[in-house]
Amino acid sequence: MKKEQTLVVIKPDGIQRTLIGEIIKRFERTGLKLVGIKMLIPDSDHIKKHYTIDPDWIEKVGQKSIDSLAEKGEELKTDDPIEAGNKILDVLVKYMSSGPVVAMVWQGVNSVGVVRKIVGSTEPLSSDIGTIRGDFVLDSYKIADTDGRAVRNLIHASGSVDEAEKEIALWFNQNEIVNYRLIQEQIIYDVNLDGILE
Ligand code: ADP
Repeated sequence: MKKEQTLVVIKPDGIQRTLIGEIIKRFERTGLKLVGIKMLIPDSDHIKKHYTIDPDWIEKVGQKSIDSLAEKGEELKTDDPIEAGNKILDVLVKYMSSGPVVAMVWQGVNSVGVVRKIVGSTEPLSSDIGTIRGDFVLDSYKIADTDGRAVRNLIHASGSVDEAEKEIALWFNQNEIVNYRLIQEQIIYDVNLDGILE
C-alpha cells in the first residue's frame, strides 16, 4: 500500500499557464514521492488509447456530462451517453495533443485518492477552492460545450489503482520509473517515531 502509484499528466494548458512548479509543489508537500517524470507531445493515438483503457469510459463521461447539464437546467444536445462521450473524446484528443504535457508518477500510501482530492472534481466551476482545478481554472461544461472544445482543467489523474497501473504502463517504460528512498519516509511511515532523538 505504501508503494501505491498514480499517473498525473499536466495538460497543455497547465504548461502554457506556467503552473508546473505550483502543481508539483502541491503533490510534493503531502509526502508523496515523485518516481517518474517526463515532458512530451502526445499524439492522437496515444490519447485515444489513454482514455479507452477503461472500455466503459466513453459512456461514463457522456453520462456525467448529460447529468451535469440536466441538473443545471441547461439545454441537452443529445441524451445518448455514447454519442456525448464520443464527442468528448474527439475534443479531448485535440486538446491533449496540442502541445507539450508533463507526465509524472507519484508514489505513496493511498496516492490515487490523495492526488484526486488535491486535483479536485472534473468541472473547474464546481471544483472546491483549495484544489488545483478550483484555485486556478474558471472553465465549465457549458462554456466548453458552447465553444465545442474540451473542458480545460490543467491535470489528468488516475481514477483507481487498477487504472493507474494500466495508464503508467502506457506512458512510461519500466526503466523510467526510479526506485529510491526519501529521507522523510523514515518519519512518514515510522511506527514508533523512535528514530528522532540522538
Ligand atoms: P477526470 O479528468 O476528472 O477524470 P473524466 O475522465 O470524466 O474526468 O473526463 C476526462 C476529461 O475530459 C476531463 O478532465 C475534461 O478535460 C474532459 N471533459 C469531461 N467532460 C467533458 C465535457 N462534458 N465537455 C468537454 N470536455 C469534457
